[in-house]
Amino acid sequence: MYYSDDTKIFLNGSFQLAKESQTSLFSQTLHYGSGVFEGIRSYKTETGTKIFKAEEHYQRLLFSAKKSHIKLDYEVEELVSITNQLLEMNKLTDAYIRPLVYLGENMGLSPTMEVNLFICAWNWGKYLGDSALRVMTSSYERPNPKSCHVEAKVTGHYTNSIMASTEAKSKGYDEALLLDQNGFVAEAPGANFFFEKNGKLFTPASGNILPGITRSSIIDIARDLGYHLEEGQYTPNDLKDADGAFFTGTAVEVAGIESLDGKKFNKDWPDTLGYELSKAYSLLVLEKYNQAYTVI
Ligand code: PMP
Repeated sequence: MYYSDDTKIFLNGSFQLAKESQTSLFSQTLHYGSGVFEGIRSYKTETGTKIFKAEEHYQRLLFSAKKSHIKLDYEVEELVSITNQLLEMNKLTDAYIRPLVYLGENMGLSPTMEVNLFICAWNWGKYLGDSALRVMTSSYERPNPKSCHVEAKVTGHYTNSIMASTEAKSKGYDEALLLDQNGFVAEAPGANFFFEKNGKLFTPASGNILPGITRSSIIDIARDLGYHLEEGQYTPNDLKDADGAFFTGTAVEVAGIESLDGKKFNKDWPDTLGYELSKAYSLLVLEKYNQAYTVI
């Protein structure tokens, strides 16, 4: 699914065949989750393949590396250029791009000097699909910001995400919604969360979440379209009589939520503000937003 016989990847300065690429089994990242990564999408636009918010994603990769004491010797422009070359080489247009910074051999818990950069890309449909989701409140909390840098995209943080998603799926739900350490609504295992109530939109403020690049695009679009949007702290109780809700993220894009813990939201997904925002977001990534909407 991720590569075929002729797929090329980028590894430490050169483009190589994925099937021939090798790495050490003694990597500190493989054992302890001490790497950083990104999830980026490119789209086939009328003027060619465009990576959506490429600079923002690579700035976040460098930020995550810095927070994790990883010295990555690349500039944002270089990373964007490598990624464009990789897409072209693999003839990819609508692609999902995965840069991973992983560390060298070290079975100790001390800092590791060897830093590796791997970038790959493949065709990946909308993660979580197109139908409105049935979501459960997770029994797992998001990691406490006092135990790690939640605003950084660190590989090890995703053990929490996998636990929450696995629990939700084992109980017959499509996805989980996690609370933070204080019991406020936080985010999904790999996406941010918004809800709609009485014509207004709400989303958890940054602090206990990964503040997504899609989340910030959605906030910009909502404000541009004149919707009322608040960032704050919300309890599960605030969601009980909500009209609608949705997840945002590079992989999921904008995914509507039908129900939470078996209780349907008041409106059907196509009747919500979130649905309108999902249509606008699809236009934005295709660089057709300005044509379709009057920009304020
Ligand atoms: N929260 C978590 C935990 C995530 O893994 C992601 C995906 N990167 C997001 C939110 C959404 O971030 P973005 O919109 O930048 O993809």
